[in-house]
Formats: sequence, C-alpha cells, structure tokens
Amino acid sequence: MQIKTFQVEFQNHPVGLDVLHPRFFWKLLSAQQNVRQTAFHLTVQTGGSTVWDSGRQEREDSVYIAYAGHPLQPCTVYEASVTVWDNHGQEASAQTTFETGLLHGSAFCAGWITHALPKEETASPVFVKTFAVKKPVRSARLYATALGIYEACLNGGRVGNRYFAPGWTNYKTRLQYQTYPIENLQVGENVLSFTVGNGWYKGALGFMPEPNRYGDRTALLAELHIWYEDGSEDVLPTDASWQVGTGPIRSSEFYFGEVYDSTVQPSGFAAAVPADFGTAQITAQEDEPVRIQKRLSAVQCFVTPKGERVLDFGQNIAGFVEWKYKGEKGQKVKLRHAEALDENGNFYTGNLSFATAEDVYVCDGTAQTFCPHFTYHGFRYIRVEGLEDLHPEDFTACAISADLEETGSFSCSDSRINQLQSNIQWSQRDNFVDIPTDCPQRSERLGWTGDVRAFCGTAVFNSQADLFFTKWLRDLASEQTPEKGVPQVVPDVMQQPGTAFWGDVATVLPWKLYTAYGDKRVLEGQYASMKGWVDYMTAHSGENGLWQDGYQYGDWLALDAEQAGLTDERNGATDRYMIANACYADSVDILAKTAEVLQKEQDAKAYRKLYQTILDAFCREYITETGRLVSETQTACVIVLYFHLAAEKDRAHIVQTLVSNLNAHHNHMTTGFVGTPFICHVLSENGQHELAGKIVRSEDCPSWLYEVKMGATTVWERWNSILPDGSFNPKNMNSLNHYAYGSIGDWLYRKLAGINELQPGYRSFEIRPQMVKGICSVRASLETVYGTIRSAWSCKNHQITVEVEIPVNTTAQLYLPEREMVTLGSGKYRYAYATETELETERYSMETPLHVVLNHPAAVSILKKAAPEMLTNPMLEYVKDSPLSEMLAYSAQAKPLFEQLI
Ligand code: BGC
Repeated sequence: MQIKTFQVEFQNHPVGLDVLHPRFFWKLLSAQQNVRQTAFHLTVQTGGSTVWDSGRQEREDSVYIAYAGHPLQPCTVYEASVTVWDNHGQEASAQTTFETGLLHGSAFCAGWITHALPKEETASPVFVKTFAVKKPVRSARLYATALGIYEACLNGGRVGNRYFAPGWTNYKTRLQYQTYPIENLQVGENVLSFTVGNGWYKGALGFMPEPNRYGDRTALLAELHIWYEDGSEDVLPTDASWQVGTGPIRSSEFYFGEVYDSTVQPSGFAAAVPADFGTAQITAQEDEPVRIQKRLSAVQCFVTPKGERVLDFGQNIAGFVEWKYKGEKGQKVKLRHAEALDENGNFYTGNLSFATAEDVYVCDGTAQTFCPHFTYHGFRYIRVEGLEDLHPEDFTACAISADLEETGSFSCSDSRINQLQSNIQWSQRDNFVDIPTDCPQRSERLGWTGDVRAFCGTAVFNSQADLFFTKWLRDLASEQTPEKGVPQVVPDVMQQPGTAFWGDVATVLPWKLYTAYGDKRVLEGQYASMKGWVDYMTAHSGENGLWQDGYQYGDWLALDAEQAGLTDERNGATDRYMIANACYADSVDILAKTAEVLQKEQDAKAYRKLYQTILDAFCREYITETGRLVSETQTACVIVLYFHLAAEKDRAHIVQTLVSNLNAHHNHMTTGFVGTPFICHVLSENGQHELAGKIVRSEDCPSWLYEVKMGATTVWERWNSILPDGSFNPKNMNSLNHYAYGSIGDWLYRKLAGINELQPGYRSFEIRPQMVKGICSVRASLETVYGTIRSAWSCKNHQITVEVEIPVNTTAQLYLPEREMVTLGSGKYRYAYATETELETERYSMETPLHVVLNHPAAVSILKKAAPEMLTNPMLEYVKDSPLSEMLAYSAQAKPLFEQLI
C-alpha cells in the first residue's frame, strides 16, 4: 500500500491558507483487493515543535480530517505527516506542507492607495515602489489585493502566473487577497510595481454594458514581507511613499479588449493617494486561480471572401492570443476575435452583442511578444489587421480557466459522442473564469445562476470543483436577501429578484458538492442560504401552498413555444408556475435532507412536512385524477417524473405521454434549460433507455450531435444557434459557448458508463452500465476524493467485457449486464462472457448515417467482401451524411449482409 496523494483543502502544498481548521485528504493505492484503512496517525509541526498530534485513530476515514491542534499562526509554514494502516497489515506514510496567510484581512498593516488621474483617463494606473534590501533574504511573501484587477511585477518580472486577481466577488462584503512566494529579491535596489486594470470593479459589465458597477476609482492594497537570514523581518506596505503614473496599457476592458502602446513610456508619476476602502471585507482567495490551461497553434490561415485575413485555432476557447513580432516603431496591429465564420465564410461577430473583442498593439521597433493583461475573449478565429507579413507560427491562442483538477473522462465507440464530450469539457473550462459564467464572448459573461443549476451535475464529474463553487456560493449567500431571494446573477450586478430553477442553485449546488465530494462543511456554510431560498418561495406562495406569482424564465430557450407560435418564444411552452413549483418541491426536499445530515431534527421534520404539503398541492393543481398533466409538454413530463411529483399509479401514463410527444416530434427534443438536463435520465430510468440512446445519437436539428455535425467545438446556447444552411439564428442570443445543454454529460457518466454514488463522495457507489444500440464500447473514469473509479465495457461479437477499478477504502455494487449484481471491495476486476439474450449493441438502424457505419470494422468487412467499389467511390465523401438505407439501395449484394447486422 502507498499514499498516492496527501492534500490540504484539496490542494498540494497550499500557500496563503486562511482556514482555521484546514482539512486533510489522502488517497491510498494498493496492489491487493478489498483494502480498507484501519487506522491513521496525523501530526502537524512547525519550527520543530508539534502543534497537533491526532494520536493513533482506529478509523477508516481518509478525507475531511479537520485540523484540531493549537491555533494556527499567520504567515507560518506547517509540515503535516500521516501514517496509515490497512486491513492487510500494511503501513504507509506521507508528508506535505501548508502555509497560512495573514489569517484575517484586517491583519493587513498596509494602507489602501489610489491615484488622482482624471476621470476620463482610460490608461491603467501603475503603482511603483523602489526599495533597498540590505541583507541576505531567507524568504519573502507578497500579500496583495485591489479594487480592479492587478498584475504585480518585481524587478521587471511578472509575479506569479495567475490572471485577473483578486477575482470577482461581492466586493461590498467580500474581497479576496492573494499570497505570492517571492524568489527574486536581490540585495541592493529592487522595484515592485502593480498595474491595475478596471476589471469587474470599475469596468463595463452587463448585457447593456455599464461601467463603475462597484466604484469609479481603482485602488491597491499590498504588503511585501521579507524574512532575513539573520532572523529579522521587514514589511513593505503600500502607503503614500509609492508613486503612481500610467504606462503602455492605454485602456483595457473585458468586453472591449485592450490597447497596448509600447511606444508609451511610463510617465506622469506622482505620489499615490492614501484612501480608506476598509479591510473588514478582505478574505484570502480559497479557490484555484485563473491560469493559462492550454496553448493552441493556428491550424489554418486564410483570406475570407470579404478579404479579411483570418487565423483559425481549431477550437473555441476563452482566452487571448500571444504573438511575436518585430514591427516598425508606431506600427499598429489589431486582432479581432470571433467564434465562427458566417454562412459565406466571412468573419462573424454578430453574436457578440456590445463586445468589440479587439486587442490593439502599437509596436516599438524591437522584437516583442504581445498579449493582453486585463481582458479575455471567447473565440476560435482572429482577424488580423495592420500586418503585411503574417506568420501563423508566431501566434498562440492561450486558453484560460480556473485551474481545476480535471477529474472525469468519457469516451466510447462513437467518435461523434467523443467530440460532444470534448465540447462539454471545453465549455466548462471556457466558462469557469473565476466565477461560473454563462458565456465568454458577448457583453454578458455573468454568473447566471440557472446555467449553473442546469450544468452542475456534469461539472462535478468533469472537475474537482469544490473550492471553485464554494467560493461562488459564499457570494451567492452574501447577495441573498429576504426581499430579493437569490439574485439571478452572482455577483449581483442586475438586482433582479430570484426566479425558479435559477434560484434553486442555492440548494441544488451545495447538495451536489456534498454528494459528489462528501463535503459536509459546504452544507453547514450554506445552510442559512438554502433555508433562505426555500423561505423566500414559501413567502411568495399563495393560500393553495403554491408559488404562482412574479416573473419566471420558464423552460428557457425551449423550442415548443416557437413551434406553437407563442409571443415570448424564449420562455418555452411549459406552464411556468408548474416548473416553479416542481423546483420549489425539489428545493424543499433537498433542504429536509440537508437538515437530516446536519442533525437539525426540528427543521428536518418541518421541511419534510412542507414538502408533503407542496406535493399534495402540486398534484391537485397540475395532475388530473387520471394522471394527465395540465401542460403536456416534454419538459412538464420530465420534471414530474424526475422530481417524483406524481403518484406511482400515474407514472406509466406520464412516461407514455412523454414518449408520444417525442414520437410526434420524430424523436426530437423540444426542451430548454429546465427539461434538457433530465430528459435522458427520465427515459433511461423508466424503461425507455433505447429511446434516450436514439436521441443522444441523433444528428439532425435539434440534437447534441447536430452541433457536432455542424463543426461545433463547444456547446451552443440554443439548439439552433446555427441553422442547417450555416447562417446564424436571426433571433439573437447565439452564444456558441454556453454549457447548460452540456448537462447531458451527467447521463453519459451515470447511464452509459454507469457510475453513480451511493454514499457521499463515492465512499460506496454503483457501476451499472446501460448499453444502447449503436455504441459497442464505453470507457470512463472519475477521480474521486478516495481515488480513481474506472468503468469500461464492450459488447462485440456476442461477447461482453467489463473492466472496473474501485479505490481503496470504498466498495462498489457492480451490475454486470445480463448478470447478477456483485459487491466488490477495492481493486481491479475484469469480466468477459458471452451475451445470452438479444443484447447486441453493434446494430444499426436504417437511419444511421453512412460515416458512422463506415467507422465500424464489421460493416467495413461486409463492404470489402460484398461491394468493395463502394469504399473507393469518390462520391462517398458527398453522401457521408445520408442514411444507411440509401447505400443499401445501391448494393443488392451488401443489403442482406447489413440486414443481419441491423
Ligand atoms: C444568459 C443565460 C441566462 C439567461 C436568463 C441570458 O442572457 O446568457 O444563459 O440564464 O439570460 O434567462
């Protein structure tokens, strides 16, 4: 046995931690099966003395072990060491470190400084301090925050590799600071500088961009701590002795890009202006910073029909372009960013709303590497202006995202679904930019709560998002009021009252973090907010116990309202209050379960009772005696089934209504934000798994694979953001990078790969693969807090193979297809056996497109034998999207062979 990872607060060697009782996690690896930890012993030391000794604890727990020693001291490095024993008589040890920050924002001894630049000045202020270091340095740390977003430089080198610090929070009550290890202090003169951009604090924000949402003057608060080899210490704080001027960043805004003029020398320096913006709201950053995650080269360089010079990076990303060039002094180069080309192949910016997404550079005559500092764009293409000699190899697209550990992988025999999985993961990365945003490209990029509500189930498979979401939930709670409920966007720059589904993120998300990662502290921290949201809905309910007033988004962007010719097509055709009350019931159910987990018995009882009252009222209002729904849309059926709102006797009828509705739409969804995350789950759980598979594998509009077929590399906002002829939906709101519909990822992991938690954090779980026709193998993995779960299966030539991996300290129930369930302890297992029943996943339907058929070895060997000319026919390229039936019509010989396969 060995310890694979030993972390503190989900991080390796965290620096700047202000958690008073940080939690320890370790993952165990063993070559043996059925391994469980039987005991552990944890000690924490600093400066040679022990501050916590847990003693030997006869416990299996290996996660969320909270520090319980002497109070932690600020700016201190602690060494933790753990020894564990298992049920096979093995022992293993590991060490790690963590370092505290200032522990309280009010511990900053520095003072805020700002500038006296005129209001119209757009250039980013640069704060500078020159100072002398007189003796050898043992270590140094920089603690910093700003009103605006900052970049620090020491002796000309960038400090750290994070972007957009201090991040976006509810600045009125929460402002994060960051801690940086400093390595390059030199004995002698040093220069520390900070450039502060407008960011979210002062910059333009919102659909109709407005500046100064939080304040109209940027400011800085920082202190450099230096510990010398002789044991003494110095602190260099921001104060009136700093100078402030402007430099080459002439303007910078998230939506409008950056103007960087390298011919401008830093100038206009004057004494910084002390200010009092308080320190009570300051708190250490607890989640992973935004960093560059991937660097992409251009895959194509071309001139559009309109004559634009365009580079294609092959992937829609959130980020910016870094490029090298030696221009003439004063030469101006413009990079404009776009997600797509239009139907004629021209550069398309029509879906950016007010965002201009343009970075402008002025060269200084030397060889330079450019990239913006305080902006990012959602793009796959750039249009380059002002360059005669364009060398694509000099341009790199840098994809940024919160630096989360990627924990999930999914692939299968259908390459189109693999592309869909990639699109979902990219949309997640691209929209996890400090907060969970709706989109990265247009003038919006806000923390829309409903989008998170729809996608969080998938998000927690793809990434370890506990810290990321915990931070955002704190802001949500801090913005929530009894009058407004949960705001529609967090941080709240819109001041709009809570709506159903959107506001439910307040209950759904903490519960997700608890079930996916086992994190109980987030439930404790959010409990008042969860309760606040439920109480808000109760306060808005009428005498019949139902919430039936105020604006609701309904089944946002569902297609059925448009199909029915309704006026506001964006809200879908499902009764909006029926949705609201289904969500209300779900939130109350979650709250009652949370109260049970937290042992708040009275609350648990009261909310369980409220749940029953809502359920009864819901049935009276929305379900007839005979099991008909008042609104018989797909989404209405889906939510009633998914949230278990109907009596058992009525379920079969409602499933049938859903199936009939789908059939009437040629097995296409009409669902929006509310119905889409659950529709396939509901089908798979109610005897219609094959239909779910058909919908997921369908390629025509609307469907997930339609987007894939149209070349999408991220998930679109609307099912039909781009129409089959390549033109954009004239209705507007056509972000090509919105993750809500990426919520199908949850179904891929849970149903196709079959990975489902039974106990929080996957301490016990099931692997229950559900095969569907047309997919003959699946391979998925999930890095849980205990270790790696793997589920892989294939069904080929009447042979089923299942391979699974179960982490140490966990148990799994494995449902082998066509076999009994087996309970397994940790280890790796492989099963191979012949199929006994009709289960045969390699079959096609007559509608299967040719290129799918041609991906299959069995199909190719039939063709090689019966109609080899078809494989070499040059027309194949043109008919590759036609159904199998068309090909069979041309080959009398191949037909009977294919019919056997179908
Ligand atoms: C956003 C959505 C959001 C919605 C609210 C849009 O502008 O992009 O994703 O949830 O407004 O209905």
